[in-house]
Amino acid sequence: MNIVLLGAPGAGKGTQAEKLVDAFDIAHISTGNILRASVKAGTPLGLEAKSFMDAGELVPDSVVIGLVKERLKEEDAERGFILDGFPRTATQAVALASELEELGRNIDYAIAVEVSPEVIIERLCSRRLCKACGYIGSKGDEACPLCAGEMCQRDDDNPDIVRNRLDVYTKSTAPLIDYYRGADLLIEIDGIQSPEDVFKSIKKAMKA
Ligand code: ADP
Ligand code: ZN
Repeated sequence: MNIVLLGAPGAGKGTQAEKLVDAFDIAHISTGNILRASVKAGTPLGLEAKSFMDAGELVPDSVVIGLVKERLKEEDAERGFILDGFPRTATQAVALASELEELGRNIDYAIAVEVSPEVIIERLCSRRLCKACGYIGSKGDEACPLCAGEMCQRDDDNPDIVRNRLDVYTKSTAPLIDYYRGADLLIEIDGIQSPEDVFKSIKKAMKA
């Protein structure tokens, strides 16, 4: 099972990706997570990516495409994969299609999780993460309910940057919905339901 997850920042892609990974035993490939780990580790890739991410801009296509190509060749992706946060531009979508063709693989579904901009701004600005384990919580959480770690806000989850991320999404990424509809791979899901109900809707649409 090979899946592409589409949706604005804050649509709930990461949460659904985790559920799909568990259900289908496939690799979770999140370009945002890979880039954040590189920033934290201070690698050359991280140093290059940081200024773009802090501004809510896209990291250059060449960088992200190279990273995904490498990741797709790792062993765990052989059983299948879920791409979370990639592709985000037409150039990335075309590069992905040609790389998969080269590998003799294909995309089974492109799942678009849809949420209105007002809800997204509210969700992202109140989102909090556990520094230790990455648990996603919200403003009211004093400590992580899983590991008691300290909760913090992602650097790019502040109102100005969130607005820019949404603009970038509308301009560069939203057109991919039509691209995958044209390829007859698109599943559209209402993201304004509980995470469990979103997941049920996805499984129903996949007939899984
Ligand atoms: P979100 O979907 O909440 O915006 P992500 O964790 O997917 O967050 O991405 C965070 C940041 O990482 C993006 O704002 C962007 O700067 C960078 N990034 C992630 N994936 C890509 C990609 N496919 N192409 C370019 N930049 C990316
Ligand atoms: Zn934790």
